[in-house]
Amino acid sequence: MKTKLRIGIIDLVSKGPTKALWARFMFPNLASIMPQVLGVWCQEEGHEVTFICYTGFENLIEELPKDTDLVFIGTFTQSAQLAYALSNLLRSRGMITVIGGPHARCYPQDSQKYFDYVLGFTDKEVVKSVLYDCSPHRPMGMYASARMQPVSLPGVKERWQFIEPTLKKAPWIKIVPMIASLGCPYTCSFCIDAEVPYQQLDLEVMKEDFRFLLKKFKRPRVGWHDPNFGVKFNDCMDAIEEVVPEDSIDFIGESSLSILTEPHMKRLKRNGFKALLPGIETWYDLGNKSKTGNNKGLEKVHLVSEQINMIMSYTPYLQANFVLGLDTDVGQEPFELTKKFIDLSPGAFPGYSLLSAFGAAAPLNLEYQSQNRVIGFPFHFLDNNAAMNITTKNYSFPEFYDKVIDLTRYTFSPRAIAKRFQSNKFSIPGWMNVVRAVSTEGYGRISHFTKVKKLLETDKKFRMFFEQETDEVPEYYISKIKKDLGSLWKWLPEGAINHDQNAYLKSTAKPHLIAV
Ligand code: SF4
Repeated sequence: MKTKLRIGIIDLVSKGPTKALWARFMFPNLASIMPQVLGVWCQEEGHEVTFICYTGFENLIEELPKDTDLVFIGTFTQSAQLAYALSNLLRSRGMITVIGGPHARCYPQDSQKYFDYVLGFTDKEVVKSVLYDCSPHRPMGMYASARMQPVSLPGVKERWQFIEPTLKKAPWIKIVPMIASLGCPYTCSFCIDAEVPYQQLDLEVMKEDFRFLLKKFKRPRVGWHDPNFGVKFNDCMDAIEEVVPEDSIDFIGESSLSILTEPHMKRLKRNGFKALLPGIETWYDLGNKSKTGNNKGLEKVHLVSEQINMIMSYTPYLQANFVLGLDTDVGQEPFELTKKFIDLSPGAFPGYSLLSAFGAAAPLNLEYQSQNRVIGFPFHFLDNNAAMNITTKNYSFPEFYDKVIDLTRYTFSPRAIAKRFQSNKFSIPGWMNVVRAVSTEGYGRISHFTKVKKLLETDKKFRMFFEQETDEVPEYYISKIKKDLGSLWKWLPEGAINHDQNAYLKSTAKPHLIAV
């Protein structure tokens, strides 16, 4: 074993080269924390690290030193095909490749075909074992996972060497990634974090990071990467208040509505929380996380709207998240209820996700797979919007897309955009909402959904793929992958467009740890 390895770490934020303005401004702010953590751990073991956060503007191959021994690639599922192509290219140049992040956790069996190592839960011992072994595992890669998430992570101060060059790429807004907890005590059946035991991370590290950031920026902006920020609300806020002068850091976080009560909102406002992203998900279920108990349908809409309006009286920006197409949705009602919510809470930006099941992410996926309801959409489209890989229980696809188009049009109608802007008091967050509405998330999605609906009605093979009568991926999707991967398309391994969508159900594989 070499005592000093040359290690490359690639954090895939973009799924291919891009020139989009939104990507230029925002992608550097979407960097993940774990690739940076890996960088610190590798250095602590005495290795040399080259770190690249790929936002779609970099030349990955040129930026990676030619004599790199081993490359870690961290990715969500939507960038998996880019990761597979990259791994193929890097292996052809003699490098060992490792995949980690959400895609590796959701689709370990598929990832093993294209990487030497596939990481599940990743702590320092797992990383050390991979570095020690550092050898090709082909044709099937080795799966390595810890029993649980790490109990501690390096803070901003130690990760700064990777954060700083990444944020330099963001020309305007710069958001520093921080994390105060892992996992979630709630049990939403579709969520990857529901299965991860909740743990608060070290508050002393957090305080040290605030002191550090206050010296680096006049007014830092921090994005919390916690799945559900503030579960231990008082502990977190005490730590902030101990070190950060009142309202001197802008915070952005995802919290469940049960945390965002009025007394908590007063404290969050005092401490600079400027953007919150609560999940409402559905009008028929999950009453525990929104504190709406057994109230369903219109009653829940009224209760939630009232709370959202209260929250927005304390914070200028709120995105309310919904999942469309859950099995509890039947007929026109769920869509009409969401429209009602838009009328009652005009300031909130609604974020819609089409029901998707990511491999082994959640136990609910076993149910979908055993009912043969998962469609083998290429990973490239599994971003909760470009495709929906579950057959809906109570709608045909054309009917469902019709309702989604109608709701999206209602949400981003000139009237709704104007009301949202007015409710946001013509502020910077208000402008951001307008930009989001008229770009990819509003008008862009209306155009994409309309195209899909038309193809469902006019292209027999396209419809057959949705109805699972064929595994042949429609040309419409293949040409999109080809275009998005650009020059890396030719490196996409044969067969990597398809995957076994029921691998989780079939799997008997157990985590296989390598001896350190
Ligand atoms: S509250 Fe949010 S993070 Fe927690 S399990 Fe539900 S969806 Fe996941």
